[in-house]
Amino acid sequence: MKLTERVYLVAGSGYGISPSGDCNCYVVDGGSELALIDTGGGYGVKAIMENIKRDGLDPKKITKTLITHCHFDHIGGNYEIRETTGTKIISHPIDKEAIETLNELSLYTMAQEWGLEFKTAPVDETVVDGDVIEVGDVELITVSNPGHTPGCISFMLDDYGVSSLLCGDIAGASGNLGYINGPGFDLDDWKASIKKLASLKPERMYPGHGTFLLGDATSHLLQYDAKMNAAWITIITSVG
Ligand SMILES: [Zn+2]
Repeated sequence: MKLTERVYLVAGSGYGISPSGDCNCYVVDGGSELALIDTGGGYGVKAIMENIKRDGLDPKKITKTLITHCHFDHIGGNYEIRETTGTKIISHPIDKEAIETLNELSLYTMAQEWGLEFKTAPVDETVVDGDVIEVGDVELITVSNPGHTPGCISFMLDDYGVSSLLCGDIAGASGNLGYINGPGFDLDDWKASIKKLASLKPERMYPGHGTFLLGDATSHLLQYDAKMNAAWITIITSVG
């Protein structure tokens, strides 16, 4: 589903466009190349490919697959998509091991409880804060924002003059908090990361779950910041 000139939503069980277990996955269109942001829970690869084709894009142009973090619902399609398209898998070095081995940090046992199963793929490249990833005629800037996992990252995109943030699970619309106490979770890091993202003043935001924002994203990050720094009871009741 085309959202803007540069960004497409190509998976997301919350939108009914791919199977249960899939996070929101996005394609950034760089013209001669595409970047895929996250790969879902593993059973959605066929739907992802069909959605990309339906949008008039060629999946074979996916040269870079950027992984926001190591949770199973963001990495399940890595193997199949890499085999199909030859894409490079790119993550932060700190989450690389979990992505490659499906260790505790990946929450893979939860995936298995949900009936999901997938092969792992190697991470071909790693990126750290400030690294620029070129995709055709666009640049994605890596933002390190630990807290949800130790090596979770976002990507900033200039979408024809509109500042946009592809943020994985570190933030969501309306300040709704996500899964905040898994292995590798760190509340202090998370709080600092939300302040950092708000300081970047994105206009648009594309989270790994729930609603994407086509404007006013910074005010949603400021709501998130307020909830993160409220009393615990407020945080707990604001989950979801
Ligand atoms: Zn996650």
